[in-house]
Amino acid sequence: MDGKQGPDVAQKAESGATVADVARLLAAVRPCDDDDGGAGLIDQLRGLEDLKCAEAALQARITVAFDLAQRRAQARSGVPAAELGAGVGAQIALARRESPARGGRLLGLARALVTEMPHTLAALETGELNEWSATLLVRETACLPAADRCAVDEELAADAGTFDGAGDRAIIAAARTAAYRRDPRSVTQRASHAASERHVCLRPAPDTMCYLTALLPVAEGVAVHAALTRNADAVRSAGDPRSRGQLMADALVERITGTAGGISGIEIQLVMTDRTLFQGNAEPARLPGYGIVPAGWARTLIRGADTGTDSSDVPGAEDRDQPMNVMLRRLYTAPSTGELVAMDSKARLFPPGLRRFLLSRDDTCRTPYCDAPIRHLDHSIPWRSGGTTNQANGAGLCEACNHTKEAPGWSAHPRPGPRHTLQLTTPTGHSYHSTAPPPPGTEGERRSRQRTGPDGGSVALRPN
Ligand SMILES: [Zn+2]
Repeated sequence: MDGKQGPDVAQKAESGATVADVARLLAAVRPCDDDDGGAGLIDQLRGLEDLKCAEAALQARITVAFDLAQRRAQARSGVPAAELGAGVGAQIALARRESPARGGRLLGLARALVTEMPHTLAALETGELNEWSATLLVRETACLPAADRCAVDEELAADAGTFDGAGDRAIIAAARTAAYRRDPRSVTQRASHAASERHVCLRPAPDTMCYLTALLPVAEGVAVHAALTRNADAVRSAGDPRSRGQLMADALVERITGTAGGISGIEIQLVMTDRTLFQGNAEPARLPGYGIVPAGWARTLIRGADTGTDSSDVPGAEDRDQPMNVMLRRLYTAPSTGELVAMDSKARLFPPGLRRFLLSRDDTCRTPYCDAPIRHLDHSIPWRSGGTTNQANGAGLCEACNHTKEAPGWSAHPRPGPRHTLQLTTPTGHSYHSTAPPPPGTEGERRSRQRTGPDGGSVALRPN
């Protein structure tokens, strides 16, 4: 998300060489002469690769040290034992410019390497394994108790060059074989744990398409696929001209939403400028939960929705047998910055209008590097501390980030900025900034034109 920045607390010098010293040395390295046909350049590439691996190993050690330091500090300030370590993964994520989910995985990887898998860590330090290969070994042994994991680590002895030239599949196969042999029961337990991680997610695909993916236990996944296949075969044999794939996709949408064509009493919101909506402007629109869509596509969807006709450009629209309701809500933006104009409310709970406003403004979770969908509207300054329910003090957060923000030592404050800006402060005193994404039509155009008044619309589509 644009405008998010790194920590503005200066890094403390360590004893011995500092990271800044290493960075200075590295900046002085230049590509060597290529007189020898490039052999020296290949050596440089390999050397730098080894350096990245050594850095990854050092980051793992630093991560574990930070985890311990935070736990000690939390224990001293009276945090219950069961809650020790809260927010550590999120701080690692911010420092490494990763999503909070990935921060948690990096913390788990570091703990496993440092405390249970010394041979794998040593192989990472010397470049015999890279960070991804080490991740595979940690992942494939995650089901084992610590003692068995140590034993597998020793058996595989990655630091003795046993994985020289091995690809991902070979590494996974070796780790699984050793793990299954050592503890066959854990395989079953792992399967039941995996089932608890079932979920459905949505990812953008090119050309205004998307992937709706479900991670399911294998029997259920196969059953869903078989049901869709059987239905498609039956409909096709009755003369339907659609392909098998199209029929399966259409049936999936129809069965889940309960209506042919797919959108049933569910509101979807398109955010676009008034020029895009009424004047044929090419400025793209934004579909929350998906991302940027072309202007023409958005107009066609609305036209088709409004009249039930002229929707041939929108895939699936020709099959929609009921017109959708279109409601237009105006969003007002400041002409120079694109900041959405404020609303206010006395209620503690965000009222529907303000809620929609914040969802339109923030689009995804406002934590830096986190792209997760918004699940909660958060009072940045909590209600109990005098925070008000208005757009300046409201922010969209995903579930995990909302939970993290409640941990001791975390705070968020609205700050002046070109658009809505938040400063997130972590328990170590590092600060990170998050600026709301620019609404459609405010980045390219604000340089060439100044406007006042309504500068955008949110179009809600809902079937009759
Ligand atoms: Zn988040």
